[in-house]
Amino acid sequence: MQNASIPKVIIIGTGPGGLALYHALIKNKDKKEFDVKIFERDSSPKERWQGYHIALNVLGTRSLLNCVPSSITSNLQKAIPNPLPDVEFHGFLLTDNEGNLLFNPPSKQFKDFNELVKVYEEFSLIVTYRDRLRDVLLDSVPVHWGKKCIGYEETKDGVWVKFDDGSREYCDILVGADGINSPVRKQRLPELQIFDYGLTNVVANVAVPKHLMDRYIKLQGNSLLQKTLGLHGDSSMNIFRLIPIEQEPDYNNKSNSNELHYRVTLNYSYPTKLDYIESDKLKVDDNDSASVIEHVKQMIRNFGSEGEFNDILLELWDLVPKSTPNDPEKYQYKTYNPTRRRQYYDIDPSSVKPWKSSRVTLLGDAVHAMNPTLGLGTNNAFQDAELLSQALINYSSEEPISCIQGYENEMRKRSAVDVLKSRTAALKMGSPNFDIINVR
Ligand SMILES: Cc1cc2nc3c(=O)[nH]c(=O)nc-3n(C[C@H](O)[C@H](O)[C@H](O)COP(=O)(O)OP(=O)(O)OC[C@H]3O[C@@H](n4cnc5c(N)ncnc54)[C@H](O)[C@@H]3O)c2cc1C
Repeated sequence: MQNASIPKVIIIGTGPGGLALYHALIKNKDKKEFDVKIFERDSSPKERWQGYHIALNVLGTRSLLNCVPSSITSNLQKAIPNPLPDVEFHGFLLTDNEGNLLFNPPSKQFKDFNELVKVYEEFSLIVTYRDRLRDVLLDSVPVHWGKKCIGYEETKDGVWVKFDDGSREYCDILVGADGINSPVRKQRLPELQIFDYGLTNVVANVAVPKHLMDRYIKLQGNSLLQKTLGLHGDSSMNIFRLIPIEQEPDYNNKSNSNELHYRVTLNYSYPTKLDYIESDKLKVDDNDSASVIEHVKQMIRNFGSEGEFNDILLELWDLVPKSTPNDPEKYQYKTYNPTRRRQYYDIDPSSVKPWKSSRVTLLGDAVHAMNPTLGLGTNNAFQDAELLSQALINYSSEEPISCIQGYENEMRKRSAVDVLKSRTAALKMGSPNFDIINVR
């Protein structure tokens, strides 16, 4: 039987933020014990493709390491492989449409993520495998799959969490780590609205053969996160690692080719209004990946500058899978994800008055989604998880709210800065005839 004196925490969502918080609360057990339960709407860990790459910065990596136990840290290598010295440069590069360098901030190189966390440079980052990171963070977490939260009922003494299968669960603290469309946020802070700033983004994951990657590197260099700005507010962002997929530990050769391949995330953004011009010429259906890919290629042809970079981009987009494979689990290189247009959205927690805390709190994208231009979302979610777990050490049944208030005040201040920084960067880069003076 459950010990009634141990307070119960329910986390909704198994994204990076929810999982990091789960581990941190278990890790802090000797300081403050909680009965922690975590619920996810997906029916299994494989239901939704989790993406190829994200860049983690020093602050995010540091918080991640502070949240997870040593058993997870020792597995992080699978998700955050060490840089290949002299081959990979973990840094950010911004060029114009003709390939001229606009911005290449200082980025300290390191031998592994343990060394990265000791670095103090703002722009230092490591490109990680997002899908693997999720797998590693899921290890030994007893997730309740297929449980979609639809709301909650808060009383003076606790919270009833409601699920779409008609069931409900009681807890002392509810944490909505349920992403940008969070039903927990919609109920808890209905005044905090999603902001749409008129930019569209298409993301795709591809396995790129060595000969094409060699051409790309020769032209653009080996910075693993690269952004190229067009003249019409259009831009391409490519993120990659130069570790061949064939050398990854669980690789099964399902291809007939002997050529090595690399993981690449392609990202194409443009002012949404360009869609109205272009869609007259080509019918785009977001449920049909082939039409979206063709649309992106058309945009690149129309708005890009003629030359080798454009040619390579077109070849890269040609490699994107165009339809659902029969068995996505076994899909070659596991690159499949339906390709669709998405809007750049964000949620700025400083756009509403500071709220009075309660037993229901939020973390990550649920309360401060930010566009991916500066790669700060997951980094903030990890910082939230660390901060909230530290705050909850001071939880007491007599005084349950004040620790949450401390967390929310700090989380709100920090994350709002990054939301607005990311918004400004995206809007400036999404402006036609963008000028580099605007970047800094
Ligand atoms: C293209 C792109 C590139 C990015 N690159 C970077 C980067 O380089 N660096 C970086 O730091 N960030 C990056 N981000 C942002 C990053 O992906 C998010 O900030 C991060 O995933 C937020 O984590 P989270 O745990 O808060 O939410 P999420 O990852 O959104 O997880 C929410 C979880 O909650 C579940 N859920 C949702 N609703 C319910 C419900 N009702 N009931 C139960 N479960 C529910 C979802 O299924 C999901 O598992 C990028 C984002 C995009 C789109």
